[in-house]
Amino acid sequence: MKCAPDHSRATSPALAVKPRLIRHLFLPPLILLLTIGLGYAGYRASLYSGIRGLDESGERQLELNGRAVESEINKYTFLPSLLELEHSVSDLLADPDAEGRRQAVNDYLEGLNRRSHSSAIYVLDTTGRVQASSNWRDANSYLGEDLSFRAYFQDAIRGQDGRFYGIGTTTGEPGYYLAHGLEEHGKIVGVAVVKVRMESLEERWQKARLEAFVSDENGIIILSSDPARRLKSVGPLTPETKERLARSLQYYWFSLTELQPLERETLADGVERLSFPAAGARPGSQREVSYLAQTRELKDTPWHFTLLTPLQDLRREAIIQGVLVAVAFALLAFLLIAWNERRKVIATRLAAREALQEANSQLERRIAERTENLRASNERLKSQIRERRQAEETLRHAQDELVQAGKLAAIGQMSTSIAHELNQPLAALRTLSGNTVRFLERGALDTASTNLGTMNQLIDRMGRITASLRSFARRGEDRGRASLTQAVDATLQVLAARIGAQGVSVHRQFSEAQLAIGQTRLEQILGNLMGNALDAMQQVTAPALWLDGDTLDDGRYRLRVRDNGHGIDPQTRKHLFEPFFTTKPGEQGLGLGLTLSASLAAAAGGSLSAEHPEEGGTAFVLTLPPLNAQPPTSAVEPS
Ligand code: ADP
Repeated sequence: MKCAPDHSRATSPALAVKPRLIRHLFLPPLILLLTIGLGYAGYRASLYSGIRGLDESGERQLELNGRAVESEINKYTFLPSLLELEHSVSDLLADPDAEGRRQAVNDYLEGLNRRSHSSAIYVLDTTGRVQASSNWRDANSYLGEDLSFRAYFQDAIRGQDGRFYGIGTTTGEPGYYLAHGLEEHGKIVGVAVVKVRMESLEERWQKARLEAFVSDENGIIILSSDPARRLKSVGPLTPETKERLARSLQYYWFSLTELQPLERETLADGVERLSFPAAGARPGSQREVSYLAQTRELKDTPWHFTLLTPLQDLRREAIIQGVLVAVAFALLAFLLIAWNERRKVIATRLAAREALQEANSQLERRIAERTENLRASNERLKSQIRERRQAEETLRHAQDELVQAGKLAAIGQMSTSIAHELNQPLAALRTLSGNTVRFLERGALDTASTNLGTMNQLIDRMGRITASLRSFARRGEDRGRASLTQAVDATLQVLAARIGAQGVSVHRQFSEAQLAIGQTRLEQILGNLMGNALDAMQQVTAPALWLDGDTLDDGRYRLRVRDNGHGIDPQTRKHLFEPFFTTKPGEQGLGLGLTLSASLAAAAGGSLSAEHPEEGGTAFVLTLPPLNAQPPTSAVEPS
């Protein structure tokens, strides 16, 4: 399985750090901003949907309460027109100064006013002067007052129904004035006016905890559940309007100010959102109360009824919903971030696992390749070992052949000397045997016997020569196993008689070594060397023989056989290893000892050389391979 190359991993660390840093720097404030923004949006949405719901339910309330206001107002509509039917009234208007007429009307109006629960009922003549009034008993009675300036009088005198809300100039009390032109024979002879107090409506609203107000044609609040809003203008008042209203004395001398909400927002036609300072809140404080203000016209009047529905609960609910939205978003953002982090961790783990698998499979591939290579090289090695063994076998065989050939060559080289060495005794034997025959024929038995003794000696010498050569030429004993100690002991034992006779002190300074040479061969060499040493020390007063052994750096074993004999003169040294070279007199030396010893050492992979110490005497150095050493690879030079 191969991993798709990940380009992001290829980017330099400095570049890789930047987006992460930006993310870490900007993500938290961004999430915070989004949380706040969404929370606010949730709050607004909840508020508006709540307002819409309230709007619908408020519409019904508005209708119900509007109707109640209308019925309250219209309850008295017919009352002024009733006076048209009253003769005393028309009589009074026809002749106001006639005796008792005014009082009769006053009494009538007083009784009517009491029964109808109105505030006051009075009758004006065509000039606008009050001719009779229900409150004729009161100190501030309207009687005799000129109310021609009142708009309701002016409307009524023109034959229209006068509707007017105002504050009485006499009593200073607010009231709703309903005026009706009293006709007689198709002519208006006076005006009947009913003043109604509408505080009962306000009381009813307050009891029902309903917040509402009624504004008149000038936009002035004439009825309000909250007395503080009374006689406030719902809209802006121009200076001209203010002046006009002041002149009309409609609102007496009350200064008219604008109802100033903290906030006003038009939501739909006749629907507004208004915020007022909370009741009891200090001016400038942040506490406020919001209302949904729904306004409708009141039938038969130019007035408007406004219902105020508090939005406080709605607002609280909207805040809760906004907070919920913000919390939900924050949670979602947190979950998203957590999910994203987890996704990244999983992706990293997956990538690491894939990389590990890839590394594993690469490793396995490499191991398989290496194993294959190793197997191949093992095979090669095995075949090389086989070849080498074969080569070694061939070499050993060749070496054996060569040693043998070398020995034969040595014998070949020696053959002239041998022939010479053997011919001499043979010639002497022929002469001696001929002479002996003749001496026997002559009867000279003593001489014949002496000759035969000489002949025996000659034959012995010839036997020794051939024995030496035979043992040298024998195949197979060149390699083997020899114990140095055993060989030295055996040799010293053979020579023990001579050593004792000559009083030679033997110094052994070697340790046991197993050498790669036949035991007999080693004893043969040691016998030659030690025999020669004894020969050389015959004339020495304190003869001594040193046998020193040590192992050379290349692993071969070295044995030095040293004596303090007469030594070898430089002339003789050149011929030491030549066959049949001897300095020994008569029958004492054959001159084959060193030649054969050197050949035997060489056949075993070793060597033999002579040293001539300055202090005198001679040392022969024999080196031989140890038993566990590799067999020599080079051919041995026959000596
Ligand atoms: P041979 O002993 O029969 O003479 P070798 O080949 O053994 O034959 O010795 C050759 C000659 O080397 C000897 O005759 C002798 O002169 C000389 N030689 C050998 N060993 C010694 C020795 N240890 N000290 C002095 N001369 C020696």
